[in-house]
Amino acid sequence: MHTEPDCLFCRIATGELSADRVLETEDVVAFRDINPQAPTHVLVIPREHVSSLDAAEPRHAETIGKLHLAAKRIAAEAGIQGGWRAVINVGADAGQTVFHVHLHLLGGRPLAWPPG
Ligand code: AMP
Ligand code: ZN
Repeated sequence: MHTEPDCLFCRIATGELSADRVLETEDVVAFRDINPQAPTHVLVIPREHVSSLDAAEPRHAETIGKLHLAAKRIAAEAGIQGGWRAVINVGADAGQTVFHVHLHLLGGRPLAWPPG
């Protein structure tokens, strides 16, 4: 499995860097965002380094699905009522700042649409 030694989220995935982890499976790791934008703000990442959804290939399909199913499980365990949001920022113009694909799980407050 491909990892990048200089990638922040690869280093969290391996445990080299600490994070407030909420879920770990064979394929994905989830941890609380360091700068939360909602009462529940969790990042779900694949253990494998994929820089962006733009870089994903068909072989990543199952892993990308697992990011979403992990978010569903975390939202349920957090007891979020009334709905939550899954966001993947793709590329700099969309606000992507960490180039290891990650799903934002946001919940616990009303969420406006469209996002900024
Ligand atoms: P994005 O802007 O979509 O690339 O999201 C990157 C997210 O990673 C931001 O919401 C940051 O607050 C968050 N973040 C950056 N460094 C860390 C860290 N060490 N632990 C947890 N979250 C982080
Ligand atoms: Zn990485």
